Amino acid sequence: MAYDRSNIFARILRGELPCKRVYEDDYALAFHDINPLAPLHVLVIPKGEYVSMDDFSATAPPEAVAGFFRAAGETARRLGVVESGYRLLANNGADANQEVAHFHVHIFGGAPLGRMLNKIEAR
Ligand code: 5GP
Repeated sequence: MAYDRSNIFARILRGELPCKRVYEDDYALAFHDINPLAPLHVLVIPKGEYVSMDDFSATAPPEAVAGFFRAAGETARRLGVVESGYRLLANNGADANQEVAHFHVHIFGGAPLGRMLNKIEAR
């Protein structure tokens, strides 16, 4: 899938849409999800143009991958959830309901999050 520069996160990166920023550096921007599913729900997005986890992991240069995951860790530290715990999640593609085609991870925290996933049956 080709990267579409009109996606919502690209527009946030360009400053065309506002966000509640948590952290930013050369590699990534972290901001609060508009529809939080936990007391803390923050998105971390790379500054480069990657459609998905698959795209990012296959094509991003090593410094972009390292910078992104360091930024995700720093975001969690700034949110103060390292000791209490947090969950990192990335949706990739249709079965995962990926809505925005700019790679991102979700950070959830601020309360016990329950099991990782409700058990899903095979198709
Ligand atoms: P996905 O399903 O692609 O992993 O998650 C996309 C996330 O982006 C959803 O949790 C959704 O609430 C969030 N989102 C969609 N539009 C906006 C927006 O304009 N601003 C912010 N901050 N979050 C958004």
